[in-house]
Amino acid sequence: MYGRVYNFNPGPAVLPESVLEKARDEMMNYKGTGISVMEMSHRSKEFEEIIQNAEASVRRIMNVPDNYDILFLQGGASLQFAMVPMNLYIDGKPVDVIHTGAWTKKAIGELKRITQYSLAWDGEPLKFSHIPTQEELKLEKNASYVHICSNNTIFGTQWREFPATGEVPLVADMSSDIMSRVIDVSLFGLIFAGVQKNVGSAGATLVIIRKDLVDRCKDSVSVILQYKTHIKEKSLYHTPPCYAIYISGLVLGWIEKQGGLSAIEKINEEKARILYDAIDSSDFYYATIKDKESRSRMNVNYRIKGNNEELEDRFVKEAKKNGLVGLKGHRSVGGLRASLYNALSIDGVKTLVEFMNEFAKKNG
Ligand code: PMP
Repeated sequence: MYGRVYNFNPGPAVLPESVLEKARDEMMNYKGTGISVMEMSHRSKEFEEIIQNAEASVRRIMNVPDNYDILFLQGGASLQFAMVPMNLYIDGKPVDVIHTGAWTKKAIGELKRITQYSLAWDGEPLKFSHIPTQEELKLEKNASYVHICSNNTIFGTQWREFPATGEVPLVADMSSDIMSRVIDVSLFGLIFAGVQKNVGSAGATLVIIRKDLVDRCKDSVSVILQYKTHIKEKSLYHTPPCYAIYISGLVLGWIEKQGGLSAIEKINEEKARILYDAIDSSDFYYATIKDKESRSRMNVNYRIKGNNEELEDRFVKEAKKNGLVGLKGHRSVGGLRASLYNALSIDGVKTLVEFMNEFAKKNG
């Protein structure tokens, strides 16, 4: 009806159609106010309701315990690479990083400037094709915290079981798999994620932080970069990304309607199974992550055997003509990548597999 296509973009990414329709319906006149959410004061009663409802939905959906605060900030997940060490580093206690890809590399780039750090595991020699087991880690008992990326959007790997870090708080960048599965929030000291993949439209960053960690921050840190500032002001210290928070609220409502994370997780597992099975059983394509336990259910990376780039380019172009967009691999790794975020339907994956089989028949 709208001429929409199946959207496999890695982020910003596909949103539920019902969310887009609701946003359209409320665009010109939000609940009788005569203005759109984009035009209203962030101090208005209507917007306060929007942000409070969004926060309450996050708490319900992820079962966030009472000793955690939930924030909607700006600056993307990238700002969190700097803000986390500025707030949580304790002098003389190097941050432990489990280095699994391009996004932990970015985090290390900021850590270098702010704190001491050490690598509890380095995935670079293996070209980031593997997620370590507990036995492979060299964790320091005395670390300020341990940093991980739960899902590596670019290489297509994902943690199944999170590392046990004892008393040391675990900090996770969950930008590309937040709310894709059930997780136990109490395992983490801090979780952050840009909302633009599974939770909403670009512009807002979700932060979930254990309350006792907030006081680690030194007064010398800029006020706007302290979590306690935003906690005190309930994410309204300054003008927040109002529209992104509004869209997030609609997506969160959609997640609850689907039956929450246990229902969403089952569908995500099924989608990933269909696609990996199709790739593994093909003699035309291969999955770039061989270790099945390390494979991401959100970002499936694959290539055409022989790594024929010209053929891969043609694949991407023909897929687009067939209503399947966003399948080009990240520029740093090449190949193909299908991102299967929450709002991408099982039908979308089945249609992709049909196209892949046709393409293989014609070009194999
Ligand atoms: N971490 C991960 C895992 C990501 O996938 C991304 C973006 N793709 C980022 C961090 C950076 O997020 P942002 O662009 O919101 O700063």
